[in-house]
Amino acid sequence: MCDLIIYDLQLKKKMSNTKDTNYNSLSAGGDAPMSSFETLKENCNFLRGTIQESLNDPLTGSISADDQLLIKFHGAYQQQYRDLDDERKKQKLEPLYIFLIRVRVPGGVTTAQQWLDMDALADKYGDKTLKLTTRQTFQFHGVLKRNLKTTIQEINKSLLDTIAACGDVNRNVMSSANIFESAVHGEVAENAKCISVHLTPQTNAYHEIWLDGELVAGGEKEEESLYGKTYLPRKFKTALAIPPCNDTDIFSNDLGFIAIVEDEKLIGYNLTVGGGMAYSFGNTATYPRVADLVGFFPKEQLLEVAEGVVIFQRDHGNRSERKNARLKYTIDRLGLDFFHAELLRNKGITLQPAKSYKFETLGDKYGWLQSEDGFWHYGVFVEGGKLADRSGYNAKTALRAIAKIHEGTFILTGNQNVVIAQVSKAQKTKIDTLLKKYKVLNTDKLSQMRLNSIACAALPYCSLAFAESERYLPTFIDKVDKILAANGLMKTPISIRITGCANGCGRPFLAEIAMVGRAPGKYNLYLGANFTGERLNKLYKEMLSEEQILAELMPLLADYAKTKEIDEHFGDFVIRKGYIKATTAGLNFHD
Ligand code: SF4
Repeated sequence: MCDLIIYDLQLKKKMSNTKDTNYNSLSAGGDAPMSSFETLKENCNFLRGTIQESLNDPLTGSISADDQLLIKFHGAYQQQYRDLDDERKKQKLEPLYIFLIRVRVPGGVTTAQQWLDMDALADKYGDKTLKLTTRQTFQFHGVLKRNLKTTIQEINKSLLDTIAACGDVNRNVMSSANIFESAVHGEVAENAKCISVHLTPQTNAYHEIWLDGELVAGGEKEEESLYGKTYLPRKFKTALAIPPCNDTDIFSNDLGFIAIVEDEKLIGYNLTVGGGMAYSFGNTATYPRVADLVGFFPKEQLLEVAEGVVIFQRDHGNRSERKNARLKYTIDRLGLDFFHAELLRNKGITLQPAKSYKFETLGDKYGWLQSEDGFWHYGVFVEGGKLADRSGYNAKTALRAIAKIHEGTFILTGNQNVVIAQVSKAQKTKIDTLLKKYKVLNTDKLSQMRLNSIACAALPYCSLAFAESERYLPTFIDKVDKILAANGLMKTPISIRITGCANGCGRPFLAEIAMVGRAPGKYNLYLGANFTGERLNKLYKEMLSEEQILAELMPLLADYAKTKEIDEHFGDFVIRKGYIKATTAGLNFHD
């Protein structure tokens, strides 16, 4: 158990003795009225709403509009199977409503049995696929309302849960996927779990609704000592990273911790605040933002600092306009001097100057690697994070067969891949046999661009998607591969990310090449982020078809192959050659 857990219990006790506050009253946003979502949160009886009644309604596969918002805090989204919309309309049927369920897996670490359980649940209640997300967790798609409760109960039986996987709270905490690389990596992963526990909502609603837990009469006596009745103004994301690998994309998170190691020991963290990816097309008051590096603190203060940042956002985030409610806007509005003053006022913490560090990559390692302790770890590439059985490659069946004999753990990565971790020498031969039997992709033969790609889920389920993403990524990269091969760039790492809209689920604005859906078959093309995830890209051209995108990329990649400097990455090259201006801060993303 992490030492910080003891501190966590003491802190929670201290907080439960304080009066529960409606933090709405402390929120920024001038005289503007609170958004309707804030009123809903205030009146939802600590996340209960009428979810139970909605689930019991046999006349529809949907739940009420308010409950659709509240159920996110429980880890589920209502969606509809958009491919069937026209057909069902013709038949005068309501849309085929289905639910996404997101599991909470701090640091992405699961046992082999948990892997088998999630695999079986996807087959039984989902669409027989598993989405490995960019926040190191499992996502089930296609779950019908009548199966929601059973699925969530089964997830809990597997000692995982879904609370706070979505919603205006701290979400799944990310940590470097290479947790067995050194003792420090293991310690940082444990710290991620501690933060996750500490920032989990305390309401009993989750247990009541999904696990048939004891009812708390009316919920009146309940407290959310950290969040209050209205939780946070918007979603809140936390990650930890260990240089030189930025595989958690630390600067895209509201709250980030960069591990500082001296003499092979973790001494503390550099704190980053105010990262975020989403923006709304045509609204320049919204923008993606790279987090600010604000200072260093010793590791013993980790939970105090995490809590201090949450309190800052709880009290000062914009509760009137949800589009400007993320911490990134709070920081830009109020400034870092005020942030430091509030951290001191609320938690008595003064940060030291940030310590030096260097990121060199954000990608995953594939194939076999051995750690200090003699164990082996195998990085499996999962294209677009979609684990499925497709003609010619039964990836889901392959991982299931491996999980049945695996004695170690699985680690989901922030790049939508998975590591078969802690394999003994004796087990390695057996797992190798299965990798060959099921033809698990040999990454040596794949382009480095494909291996550094990410795609969000988008169609057919996501109601916000304007264009294809996950289903489209493989065929699009097939076409770019031809350009790469013709220019000798197959082994050159270039990050590429595709999303169905600008909501940022696949962190597109930190990719050297990004395509963001605008309409069916049409994408905005962004260029110029750096390979280590420390600089945003910028809009290059709008509303391009596939043919136009390939026509744009062809001369750029050819020029890159011919005139790049030694070790120069594509994102730096397009800026040096003047193809695009560098984005130096979120506020100049639109310039
Ligand atoms: Fe849906 Fe947009 Fe997120 Fe993709 S980025 S999953 S399209 S909301």
